Amino acid sequence: ATPGGQITLNELPLRDNLRGKSPYGAPQLDVPVQLNTNENPHPPSQALIDDVAESVRAVAAQMHRYPDRDAVALRADLAQYLSAATGVGLKTENVWVANGSNEILQQLLQAFGGPGRTAMGFVPSYSMHPIIADGTDTTWLAAKRAADFSLDIDYALGEIARLAPDVVFLTSPNNPTGASIPNGDLAALVDAAPGIVIVDEAYAEFSDQPSAAELIDRYPAKVVVSRTMSKAFAFAGGRLGYLAAAPAVVDALLLVRLPYHLSVQTQAAARAALRHRAETLAGVARIVAERDRVVARLGELGYDVAPSDANFVLFGDFADPAASWQRYLDDGVLIRDPGITGRLRVTIGLDTENDAFLRVSEKLAPTDL
Ligand code: PMP
Repeated sequence: ATPGGQITLNELPLRDNLRGKSPYGAPQLDVPVQLNTNENPHPPSQALIDDVAESVRAVAAQMHRYPDRDAVALRADLAQYLSAATGVGLKTENVWVANGSNEILQQLLQAFGGPGRTAMGFVPSYSMHPIIADGTDTTWLAAKRAADFSLDIDYALGEIARLAPDVVFLTSPNNPTGASIPNGDLAALVDAAPGIVIVDEAYAEFSDQPSAAELIDRYPAKVVVSRTMSKAFAFAGGRLGYLAAAPAVVDALLLVRLPYHLSVQTQAAARAALRHRAETLAGVARIVAERDRVVARLGELGYDVAPSDANFVLFGDFADPAASWQRYLDDGVLIRDPGITGRLRVTIGLDTENDAFLRVSEKLAPTDL
């Protein structure tokens, strides 16, 4: 018998707002073609692998000491990258780092949400936003996207005015639907919001749209831009998320972060990955070209495809998406069932993986739509 196996979750003294909830659960299956978690399909180059290994080897000699609590060198590198990428002059003190942008979002809700406070999102969007709200005991307010998954700005302004949320989540490009929010619309939403607006830009490098970082100087007490190295930087396993905001926002997060949250290995490996960014980001252009090829082919096959600025595509209209998801899997292609009527989501992979995905899509087009 398993020690303690006689007790179930329901019998534990769990907080009421966590009862009946499900954990984040994208399947991790060992199949030939994995296109379900919006990772970058390009593996690191030998030069990057060597640089990570050398860098981690060097810091291993200091592993008996705690890491730099404030990760200053890494934040300086990221500030330099993000300034070049966005055209906004960001400094080290504008940037904060954590173990994935999920931890960034959690720290933001620890500081600006919490018991008695609310966070609003526009669904369907990233499924972790409400889960992190639950974990921090922040009341989640689910506002809706339009039928075509765009943000209806008048409706959104109305919901923000009506419910005055302490935190607003805006995901741009939005996961799982793919489109970005133009900065003009973002500014109107920020104007209406009484508190913090988190712009989740996990997929920004795949988009041509300007970054919401442009709005930080105008709205220093409101705009926080969340980013990650998991997608464009092909560093999902390395776990490095970051944000750009006014320095005071970083001061707020220092109050809730756990000391030494970012290991010496993570800091060293992330800095190595950043040194190879020219090569890694060249792969992003290939993914964007492949995305456009997949979108065009799905359209030819009669699928309804949502426009995408990201490294994934939402498509349908399936009569029974769960059954069609299984058919892809039976042919060795793992995609995502995001639980949206008639839709499935595919991550753009390597050319050969996309070909495998399109071959199944050709087979299903006449029968499953
Ligand atoms: N935001 C969005 C919109 C995402 O899709 C994801 C990853 N699926 C994340 C944040 C979190 O990624 P990570 O914790 O790996 O940075």
